[in-house]
Amino acid sequence: MDQANILIIGGGVVGCAIARAVSGRWQDVFLVEQFPKLGMATSTRNSGVNHSGIYYPKNSLKARHCVEGNRLTYEFCKKHNVPFRHCGKLVVAADAHEVEELAALKKRGEDNGVEGLRLIGADEIRKREPHIKGVAALDVPSTGIVSAEELVHAYGRVATNQGANIVTRAQVISLEPSGETIRVGLRIGDEEDAQEETIEAKCVINAAGLYADEIAALLGNHSWRIYPVRGEYCEVRGPRSSLINNLVYLLPHADGLSLGVHFTKTLWGTFLLGPTASYVEGNGRQRNRGLRDHARSRGAAGDSPCRHGVAGAHGCAIRRGACFNARRGNTWVGLFDDDSQEFLFSGAQ
Ligand SMILES: Cc1cc2nc3c(=O)[nH]c(=O)nc-3n(C[C@H](O)[C@H](O)[C@H](O)COP(=O)(O)OP(=O)(O)OC[C@H]3O[C@@H](n4cnc5c(N)ncnc54)[C@H](O)[C@@H]3O)c2cc1C
Repeated sequence: MDQANILIIGGGVVGCAIARAVSGRWQDVFLVEQFPKLGMATSTRNSGVNHSGIYYPKNSLKARHCVEGNRLTYEFCKKHNVPFRHCGKLVVAADAHEVEELAALKKRGEDNGVEGLRLIGADEIRKREPHIKGVAALDVPSTGIVSAEELVHAYGRVATNQGANIVTRAQVISLEPSGETIRVGLRIGDEEDAQEETIEAKCVINAAGLYADEIAALLGNHSWRIYPVRGEYCEVRGPRSSLINNLVYLLPHADGLSLGVHFTKTLWGTFLLGPTASYVEGNGRQRNRGLRDHARSRGAAGDSPCRHGVAGAHGCAIRRGACFNARRGNTWVGLFDDDSQEFLFSGAQ
């Protein structure tokens, strides 16, 4: 039976970043991932935004870690050749009613230690994003875009170089306390020829993402339950991809469900519109957690494929021709007007 000092369950961005950190200090680190490659779940099905930390409550762990993590992520990307663009983002107020909310967001960001926040007016919005119309915007200079997939693989690569053992196609099926250790039961290999093995670990880290509640339950902790949220994006390609230069957000959903539909200029020159957010309930929950649903599918807008993932809160609708519509709560926003060639953010239905 293999012996591990530390065994990490899950090869998403969290598990791989932990593997990189702990393998720099300890030997016999294992990371086990059920899928054939690292980062095949939520960690590579997202907007790839290096967030600033403006949204979280003051003094929360999320606020502290996000502000520090923003800086550390850029440093890591530079050092390990992970593509990124430190471009900043705009959070746009669609009308005068939203300006107060924008100011409150700025205050919260400053309380969290986010640097360089500025409120700008319609003219400066125009200069930065000629096709965006809003009455004011919060300029967040520390936000940027990273290649989410390459980030995961770079963490995995560094961990391996430091001696970590990364095992893919290895699903944790049981956890059994045994004295000072935990016996981790694994199903290794493809379904047809899978074999069962056990690793004895002094420390087990649960980084199983959407399945973290099931992993906790294997050790008898039923106090956590994940409520997955499904979202969809549309990727806008071709001549219209030049309508957006960087990152443009609306104010977040008041119910806290998500940051709302936003525009993300990708590192490959297209832009993403999305994601939407809808809870996945009942039997669909299990199915929607799976790899199958992470495949790309064609969207309604001809040359604009939609992609979807599960875990955050997201989605989008895109229509051929005159307008792109994206929804914030029950209100349609981001209406693209073909005549004026601008996103109106009008809040109109
Ligand atoms: C639509 C969307 C957009 C987002 N946009 C951003 C963004 O722009 N910026 C940002 O910072 N965050 C964003 N997020 C959040 C971010 O993607 C997640 O917080 C992050 O990916 C979580 O990483 P993870 O490693 O915890 O989970 P995952 O990526 O889900 O990794 C968990 C891994 O554990 C494995 N696993 C599970 N159970 C087992 C088992 N029993 N045995 C072995 N392996 C197992 C899974 O296969 C999976 O690979 C977004 C999320 C969504 C849904």
